[in-house]
Amino acid sequence: MRMRSDAVVLFGVTGDLVSKKLFPALYELTRRDRLDVPVIGVARSAWDDQQLVTMARKSVAEANDEIDDEIFDQLADNLSMISGNYADPTTYQRLAQRLRDAERPVFYLAIPPAVFGSVVEGLAAVGLADRGRVIVEKPFGRDLASSRELDRTLGAAFAPERVFRIDHYLGKEAVEGLYAFRFANRLFEPLWNNEHIDNIQVTLAEGFGTQGRAGFYDTVGATRDVLQNHILQVVALIAMEAPARDDTEAFRESEAAVLRQVAPLSPQSTVRGQYAGYRDEPGVATDSNTETFVATRLTVDSPRWAGVPFYLRTGKSLPGTATEVVVEFKQPQRSLIPAERGTTAANLLRFRLGRGDGITMSIQAKSPGAEVASRPVDLSVDFGAALGRRQEAYERLLDDAMDGQHLRFARAETIEQEWRIVEPILDLPAAVQSYEKGTWGPADADALAGGWHTPDL
Ligand code: NDP
Repeated sequence: MRMRSDAVVLFGVTGDLVSKKLFPALYELTRRDRLDVPVIGVARSAWDDQQLVTMARKSVAEANDEIDDEIFDQLADNLSMISGNYADPTTYQRLAQRLRDAERPVFYLAIPPAVFGSVVEGLAAVGLADRGRVIVEKPFGRDLASSRELDRTLGAAFAPERVFRIDHYLGKEAVEGLYAFRFANRLFEPLWNNEHIDNIQVTLAEGFGTQGRAGFYDTVGATRDVLQNHILQVVALIAMEAPARDDTEAFRESEAAVLRQVAPLSPQSTVRGQYAGYRDEPGVATDSNTETFVATRLTVDSPRWAGVPFYLRTGKSLPGTATEVVVEFKQPQRSLIPAERGTTAANLLRFRLGRGDGITMSIQAKSPGAEVASRPVDLSVDFGAALGRRQEAYERLLDDAMDGQHLRFARAETIEQEWRIVEPILDLPAAVQSYEKGTWGPADADALAGGWHTPDL
């Protein structure tokens, strides 16, 4: 039987991810009575327990309008710090000593991927890998070979059921909503195929640049940072077959199965862009060829999806921040009722997956007047208004990992498939195309999709 973790260890506790996402998640879990166990921060910085608590409070304050002191104090009582170097065996010995009463600690590797190996080996050396769980952040490797290498490193220390690979998109309720929408509604599933769907567009737009992390970003780029993981996860949920059973492994199998059917991306159907001014940012090479924007066409080689292009794009410094999927249906077979001039006759389903998530369905209604023609009108629902507060992704993912529940974590094979798909467009030698900040990327990207549906910003 899976038992709940009885300690949480955050490697890299001084970092950006812990302060932006993990402290607020721990606070929410404490509020929901899901967390009352030791939380140990580990870092090279010489912080003491009080500094850790101060930082945690600051993070929680930034994520919440007000702090409930009773809840925060409960979390603070559980916090403690270990400062040490990851190459030093005594760091792990001190940790093992601190965890002597914990039977199932969970280790969160909120550290740069280059350090994963030493930490995993250090944990194994003191026997903690045999009884613990490990959470590994994306990016999971840099390509197929390094992703397999990382798996070997993890696998040498942790049994497969102890490894949790995070792509936080799988933890977002809005993204999980795609799955619920498809399989809990009889209405659309019969239409969910190449007979009725013309094309599908996925846009993950960021209205901001590298936010002071240009040095890190320049070694990664949009394909590795977003397309390989978040966007392909969304594609999998949109395109997958219904799982054979209602259980975790059947779900993960359906997800992997559809990715196996995706053809490798082609450089000829890919446009890479870089916003003007990027090369002047601190930490960026003056001749950097790193893409801050990528648009591409993906195909799924299956009876359901043959002939339906999936247009994908993501980028920084675009006109706004939004994540959207637009499913464009085919035009009615016999145009008895012409579309009003200047409008599209296709039905659209627009899934908004970012803030203000919801669905908009564009249907054809009769235009007013003597003429029998139609024009699109929107049926729209805002899930926040209709359903109330949903949980934050990191809150759910930590909760799940503590329970040993893998539903919202990627299988090793899924990640390998994602790398296989993007590999032909990684590190392309052709120069990136420049685009102005605040635009939708290079002009060639527009031509690729023959017209993108602009997201609701
Ligand atoms: P940071 O760059 O903020 O690093 C986290 C901590 O790791 C630092 O505070 C530092 O702590 C320690 N560290 C940095 N460099 C080294 C090194 N060379 N050797 C040992 N320790 C080092 O990372 P983030 O918090 O942004 O990200 C953590 C992980 O999560 C990464 O794998 C990242 O890719 C991933 N991730 C991050 C996201 C984010 O929004 N930030 C989103 C998705 C994934 P100290 O010096 O005190 O030891």
